[in-house]
Amino acid sequence: MQGGQLTQAQWAHVNYYFKLDPQNTNIPAGVIGKLQATLDGIKANQLKVRVMFFNFAKPTDKKLITIAKAQILNVNQAVRFFIHECTHIYADTDDHSERGYGNNQGTYRQPGLTPEEAPNNADTYAYLTVQLAGRALL
Ligand SMILES: [Zn+2]
Repeated sequence: MQGGQLTQAQWAHVNYYFKLDPQNTNIPAGVIGKLQATLDGIKANQLKVRVMFFNFAKPTDKKLITIAKAQILNVNQAVRFFIHECTHIYADTDDHSERGYGNNQGTYRQPGLTPEEAPNNADTYAYLTVQLAGRALL
C-alpha cells in the first residue's frame, strides 16, 4: 500500500491504532508484513469458523477459529473478530489486555498500549482494517 492512497482520515486511524506520530504518512514494514501474512494465511488455508460462546484461535491450528455467536450476528463485528483471530494464527499477534482491546467506539478500552506493542496487537489490525474499509464498527 502506498501512502498517497490513504485519506487524511485514514492516516489518522493508522497513526492512532499503531501509536505513531499524528503527522506520520508511512506504514511500518512490520505492519505491512503482518497484514500480508494474514492475507496469505486466509488464502492458503481452508479456514473453518466455529460458532460458540467466545472468540478463540489456537496458533498451532491454522484452519480453525472460533467466533462467539452473539458477535457473529452483526456482520461488521464479525469481520472485526475474524480479522483479530486470523492475525493470531497467521501473523503471530498477541492481546495486550484492556490496553490493546478496542471498544465499539473504535478506541482502546484503556490507555497505555505502547508503540512497540501496537504492531503486535491483534485488535489493532482488526479495528484498523474495518476503519480503512469505511465500515461501521457495529
Ligand atoms: Zn485475541
